[in-house]
Order: sequence, then C-alpha cells, then structure tokens
Amino acid sequence: MVDVDYDLVIVGGGPAGLTAGLYAARARLNVVLIEKLMPGGQIATTDWIENYPGFPDGISGADLVVKMTEQVKRFDLPIESKEVKSIELSDGIKKIDLGDKSVTTNAIIIATGASPRKLGVPGEDLFYGKGVSFCGTCDAPFFRDEVVAAVGGGDTAVQESIYLTKFAKKVYLIHRRDELRAAKILQERAFANDKIELVWDSVVTSINGLLTNVVSVTVKNVKTGESKDLKVEGCFIWVGTSPNTGFISDAVKVNDWGFIITDQKMETSVPGVFAVGDVRNTPLRQVATAVGDGAIAAVSAEHFIEGMK
Ligand code: NAP
Repeated sequence: MVDVDYDLVIVGGGPAGLTAGLYAARARLNVVLIEKLMPGGQIATTDWIENYPGFPDGISGADLVVKMTEQVKRFDLPIESKEVKSIELSDGIKKIDLGDKSVTTNAIIIATGASPRKLGVPGEDLFYGKGVSFCGTCDAPFFRDEVVAAVGGGDTAVQESIYLTKFAKKVYLIHRRDELRAAKILQERAFANDKIELVWDSVVTSINGLLTNVVSVTVKNVKTGESKDLKVEGCFIWVGTSPNTGFISDAVKVNDWGFIITDQKMETSVPGVFAVGDVRNTPLRQVATAVGDGAIAAVSAEHFIEGMK
C-alpha cells in the first residue's frame, strides 16, 4: 500500500459528514473531517426540527449541531477548517487540494450538502441582504410587523412561511401551481394561519426596490398571464436546492440535476469515493436520512480501506 496522509477524508460537516466522522473515529481510522465554515451545514440555520427521533418536543437546528459536534469531539474526530478546492482521483490515490496544501487519502466521503436554488429574476441578486433572503432563521426577525413574500411550495417554503408569521404581519406564499408539494401536516398549518395568503399559479418575475430595500415583487399568474405588484418589504426564496459539487467537477457520475449517484453502500462511480446526505441522488433530504447515509458510508469506507491492505 502506498503511503498516504489519511485513511479517510470526510468533506463537509453537516449531519451526514459528522455521523460518518463519528463512526470512522470510533473505528479508529486515521480520519479528518474538512469543513469550510462551521460544522452544521444547512441545519445550523434551520429554526426547528421536529421529525428527528429522540427529541419529542423538537430541537433547534443550532442546538442539534452543537450536540452532534460535542459527540464527535468525545471520540477525538479531528476537524479542520479549510475549503477543498479540487480533488484528483486518478491513479488510485486520492489527492485533495486545500489551497495552501494538499493531502492524500485512500478513501473520501463527500458530504458537502446542497445550497439554495435561485429564481434568476431581476432584483434577486441586487437586493440580497436588503430584503431578499434564503434563510428564515437568519432574517425573519428583521420583518417584524411587515409584509413579506415567500416563494415556493415545498416543505421549506411552507414551514418557513409559518415561522415568518411569528414576526411578519402578513406573508404572501407564492407558488407556481395550484397545489402545494409540502407535507399535508404543514399544508394544514399554513391554511389555518390567518397571516398567510396563498398566491396560486404564480411566479415572481422581478423583485423591485429602492437603493437599500425591497418595496414590491411583481408576480405573474401563469394561467391568465396577468401580472401585478404585491407591496412587500421582503422576499424569501425557498425553491429547492442545488448540490455543492463544484470542487469535484465531473470526476464522479451525477444525475440530471447534478446530484452524485451512489449505490446502496453510498459508493460513487469511483471506488473508494462515497457520497452522503443532500449532495447525493437520494429520494429524501432529511437529517434522519443524512445520518443514516453517513453511518453506511463510514462502514463501507472502512471495508474498502481494509480491502486495500
Ligand atoms: P423542494 O421539495 O424541491 O420544493 C421546491 C419548491 O419550489 C417546489 O414547490 C417547486 O415547485 C418550487 N420551485 C422550484 N423551482 C421554482 C422556480 N424556479 N420558481 C418557482 N417555484 C419553484 O425543496 P424544499 O422545500 O427546499 O425541500 C427540500 C427537501 O428538504 C425535501 O425533501 C423536503 O422534504 C425536505 N425538508 C423537510 C422539512 C421537514 O421535514 N420539516 C423541512 C424543510 C425541507 P413545484 O412543486 O411546482 O415543483
């Protein structure tokens, strides 16, 4: 076996990466977890999680991250704050470029998650941070007693719209169809909430504002073709996510939307490279599924490394 820096490098410190790290550290692998920001991933900014078992009253995303991080530290998982620039997968050994240095490893677990998708309409970039937001937990308190728009029809849009009503006096929930995609229980809560007004069959075509703040969104009814302006002080965009795979380009096989394809061992098209959580082609993106992926990938990586000896 050729000398390498690590048995296993885990890239990304959300629930999937942290769980992989927990299993790998307990298996006494020579492992490191590399995370460009703070551990936690998307759940760090999730207001409330009530479908992760073990917390009957629910738990805030931030608190869950703290608990997960404490748990991996108990087993001495090294966590390095660095951004992975690129990964070289040729000739069997995997080489990871971290900008100021590169490391070699026998196996990699990619756990880099996904990022919010954009609408691609005028005003979205211009007013980002000035009324346009992708994060309710971060920005909802700025809209106390104001009117805001929320775009999307999935679990995120509906759950976060309900959260927004704790602050905003009114939320227009704008959805491009006449039926929400979100779980029925979330739909029931949204329909029962007096502060939420559904704007069906409609897309946002522009976000309008003055220099420093949003004043309205233009929405177009896709059935009638009619456009109108809704006066709002903020616009929250929750229309799904895109995988964070820029650093790996086309080294592993991905599906039509760019999510990494894995088998049931979480292994990608490249032997010894595994992918877990939101970044992979999975039918469900939840904390519960991410941690399952992480556990499977760590054990699969352990078997792969043993097989190399
Ligand atoms: P999602 O389920 O992919 O929903 C995205 C929504 O945005 C859909 O309603 C979609 O409309 C709409 N959309 C997509 N592109 C659009 C565009 N360009 N313009 C207007 N609307 C657009 O994404 P998500 O809600 O972020 O959820 C992602 C995953 O996280 C899901 O698996 C979800 O179950 C999970 N999640 C779970 C919870 C929870 O359990 N409490 C909370 C948050 C997220 P169509 O419906 O017409 O396609």
